[in-house]
Amino acid sequence: MRFSKLRLTGFKSFVDPTDLIIADGLTGVVGPNGCGKSNLLEALRWVMGENRPTAMRGGGMEDVIFAGAASRPARNFAEVSLQIDNTERLAPAGFNDQDQLDIVRRVTRDIGSSYKANGKDTRARDVQMLFADASTGAHSPALVRQGQIAELINAKPKSRRRILEEAAGISGLYQRRHEAELK
Ligand code: ATP
Ligand code: MG
Repeated sequence: MRFSKLRLTGFKSFVDPTDLIIADGLTGVVGPNGCGKSNLLEALRWVMGENRPTAMRGGGMEDVIFAGAASRPARNFAEVSLQIDNTERLAPAGFNDQDQLDIVRRVTRDIGSSYKANGKDTRARDVQMLFADASTGAHSPALVRQGQIAELINAKPKSRRRILEEAAGISGLYQRRHEAELK
């Protein structure tokens, strides 16, 4: 599975629909302070199911919605869509019926979040599991926040182990075992 495009609409500073094409190889995003580079990575984390407002540098989950600027009114919803190249058919069962997989997450004020996979309503948990199994999930060490390296060095062994498990692609199994134990 390869990410091929990220589209942001009303997400943080990206008020108008904005496409980030992710080509083969390395993609760099450069720009002045405050232009939205970190917001792009947060959008990626968010569409994969991130639910901790702190990881999104906000106080509540609706803080990702464009809050308005001097010349533009606030938006009512934020939407991020992630296009995934699935020509190698490596997506898990339930997501693996097409060459392209589109995951869309939308949050609407006073209503909350909803997810779609290739146009069909999907549960948050299924989207989170899809990316946890692919080792790219919201908690994945593939996404490194500012200050995270220092956190990793100072982490307790238990949380460091969780990072290694995510890197090894077994955190989805861990989550399923935890759910089975609760039943
Ligand atoms: P730096 O180089 O300093 O790391 P950056 O390019 O990573 O900057 P971001 O942190 O992604 O910049 O973007 C910050 C901008 O996003 C700020 O101008 C902030 O006002 C804007 N912003 C964040 N949340 C919202 C929101 N909900 N609505 C409107 N604008 C927002
Ligand atoms: Mg930044």
